[in-house]
Amino acid sequence: MTGKELQEQLAWKIPHIASKAPEQIEAADGFCDGYKQFLDQGKTERECVKAAEKLLIAAGYTVFDEKKSYKPGDKVYRINRGKSILATTFGTKPIEEGVRISGAHIDAPRLDLKANPLYEKESLALFKTHYYGGIRKYQWSAVPLAMHGVMVKKDGGTVEFNIGEKPGDPVFCITDLLPHLSAEQNERKLRDGLKGEELNIVVGSLPYEDEEIKEPVKLKALQLLHEHFGVIEEDFARAEIEFVPAAKAVDVGFDRSMIGAYGQDDRVCSYAALMAEIGTVTPLYTTVTVLTDKEEIGSEGNTGMNASYFEDYVTYLAQLQGADPKTVFANSCCLSADVNAAYDPTFSSVYEPKNTCYLNKGCVLTKFTGSRGKSGANDASAEYMAKVIGIMEHAGVYWQVGEIGAVDVGGGGTIAKFISRLNVDVVDLGVPILSMHAPFELSSKLDVYNTYKAFAAFYQEA
Ligand code: MN
Ligand code: MN
Repeated sequence: MTGKELQEQLAWKIPHIASKAPEQIEAADGFCDGYKQFLDQGKTERECVKAAEKLLIAAGYTVFDEKKSYKPGDKVYRINRGKSILATTFGTKPIEEGVRISGAHIDAPRLDLKANPLYEKESLALFKTHYYGGIRKYQWSAVPLAMHGVMVKKDGGTVEFNIGEKPGDPVFCITDLLPHLSAEQNERKLRDGLKGEELNIVVGSLPYEDEEIKEPVKLKALQLLHEHFGVIEEDFARAEIEFVPAAKAVDVGFDRSMIGAYGQDDRVCSYAALMAEIGTVTPLYTTVTVLTDKEEIGSEGNTGMNASYFEDYVTYLAQLQGADPKTVFANSCCLSADVNAAYDPTFSSVYEPKNTCYLNKGCVLTKFTGSRGKSGANDASAEYMAKVIGIMEHAGVYWQVGEIGAVDVGGGGTIAKFISRLNVDVVDLGVPILSMHAPFELSSKLDVYNTYKAFAAFYQEA
């Protein structure tokens, strides 16, 4: 045997998908048309829930009722407080043998308004913000921002905002210094390029016409808000308003091989898991797809994975068949669907090239997350890695492995540890992303498509 033959037999090489399966380029492109629409419709967790619900209803899903009985192939969903959503296709096996869970998150880093945000300074009206999730603050200035969210008025009526997305809409922005005047700012550390209290959004510059009035520009903004939405300043304290990049999802590159958009972490896995859920026909094991909120701030709160709503839902599923939920969890397995940091040739020093994921090499299996000595990680077992790899290889899914950067350089967490706490086998699997958490993130269409194929195989073949 030649060395070359032996090498082919023994060594592991992860291929570029386009060189092994060029026929997937067109299929991936088609799949991503729907994905781009999902991104444009869902700029906030609430909007993602609505977009997901629409797709589920169109596919025949009905609202889950724990007092009803269901047969294999039936499809149900449940929404938690408008910010997280669960969907299920009932399987043929008794639920005691476990369920197949895919979990992704639909919240994304952004700028939230403070509870009393509006002020005037030197004839400009501005909003004070408090950033949500891990952002590099300097990236959020001088880009068009859209206003999304919900406000509950004193009378109980609800107003939904979506300004800056439709053609002709005004947008908003955070200002930055011109190079001519930034000598002092340039001396700051990059993390302080813009400071938290400098993330102020310009919302108006015309005064209310009355010379007696103090802060006439602020009053003009309030007047317009009242005219259009019937709200007053105090209503901001009864609101969740999020400012996000106003741009739409677009193709990137001469070859259109990539997608550029805000919020791909983790709406990319959310869409892939949701489409796999919808496509599942009478599986062996009952599926549980969960699109959750608050991952970016540690899965906190009653709509995050650290809350009991997920456990309660699976418990209800178990009780439908008179099964012990503990047994159901013990026999269940889960793909924690989240993105990973793709190798960036411009910043190669933070990666360890053999254990980093790459664009166009498929969905990335991340055995453990966390930082330093795997602190805060879910660390999947060898047996469960074997099971998931087996499912993917059987279905012809292109996959790779990756860690979030080199050892001790950084790290991060996902929802994996909150599901494994329930005595479920969990591993992270998702899409490689460039410029993660930036206002404009990059993914590869082939990776998105293969991640969808991985979830589909997990549900249909597991
Ligand atoms: Mn994520
Ligand atoms: Mn993230």
